[in-house]
Amino acid sequence: MTHTLIDGKKTAEELLIEIENKVDRLKQQNITPGLSVVLVGNDKASETYVRSKVEMSKRLGIHSVHREMSADVSEEELLQEIDNLNKDGAIHGILVQLPLPSHINTEKVLNAIDYKKDVDGFHTLNAGALSKGLEATIPCTPLGCIILLKRYIGDLSGKHAVVIGRSNIVGKPVGQLLLKNNCTVTYAHSRTKDLPAVCRQADIIVAAIGKPEFVNAEFVKDGAIVIDVGINAVENTDNSQRKRKLVGDVAFNEVCNKTSAITPVPGGVGPMTIACLMYNCLYCACLINGVEFDMADNLRA
Ligand code: NDP
Repeated sequence: MTHTLIDGKKTAEELLIEIENKVDRLKQQNITPGLSVVLVGNDKASETYVRSKVEMSKRLGIHSVHREMSADVSEEELLQEIDNLNKDGAIHGILVQLPLPSHINTEKVLNAIDYKKDVDGFHTLNAGALSKGLEATIPCTPLGCIILLKRYIGDLSGKHAVVIGRSNIVGKPVGQLLLKNNCTVTYAHSRTKDLPAVCRQADIIVAAIGKPEFVNAEFVKDGAIVIDVGINAVENTDNSQRKRKLVGDVAFNEVCNKTSAITPVPGGVGPMTIACLMYNCLYCACLINGVEFDMADNLRA
């Protein structure tokens, strides 16, 4: 079967151009969206993510502030920093890079962020609003998945979606957004019985598991749409120079010819996540300043 390659890189680039234009328009109203990224500790992967977020903000004309705190910072000190950022009128979005060191209560920290500045959409108020189908800041990766599906598939009504994974960051909100878009949603997880049989019923599979190439051809019915959220660094067995390569949670080569549409890794959901962070920063700046957020319907969740 021929399949459509769902191009997250291209879609993210188009979305970023749209956001840049809207940032320009906000600036004409004397509003410059501001993002603050807080990094605790010196985890290499987190440092890379933070750097790319700050660089992307700069590219779009978003004011960005990068705050580094040492790995042994106290919870009180971190909460104080968040309080300062909550009160800072130049900052519309606050992101605390996860994971946090184990002596810090992550949930307490996330809920200390003003929900209107919660660009990650992890605050309990935003998570609750999303589950009630109310206006909310939507976590970036799930938002990216839905934008890709709407753009490449169109109307999702009546489709049976199986979401593998139930994390608060990806699985749960993706399922809620699919429900909002009138899909019939099944959540699968590590306790699900006969996962391949459950997945074979799906018109849409969203894989957010964290296990390299876990979803194989046995999981996929002919013509299904597959969204692969997974990012796993594995040993590179081909002859190229690189020791490691990125693969998704889906065995792409084995699965792609059974699908009608599929996201690659890299180049699928990954680039959408950072674009959606910028989207959320713009959204929060509009919300705080009482300006309409006029994103086209197919660029909304
Ligand atoms: P978590 O580890 O928080 O959640 C993984 C989920 O997968 C859990 O719900 C778990 O079930 C389920 N699971 C684990 N093993 C199995 C199994 N054998 N069968 C069925 N379900 C299973 O991961 P995240 O949600 O944070 O991330 C998922 C993936 O997405 C990772 O690869 C991560 O790197 C990637 N990711 C990618 C992003 C992007 O920008 N593209 C952003 C964020 C994450 P249970 O709840 O029962 O334990």
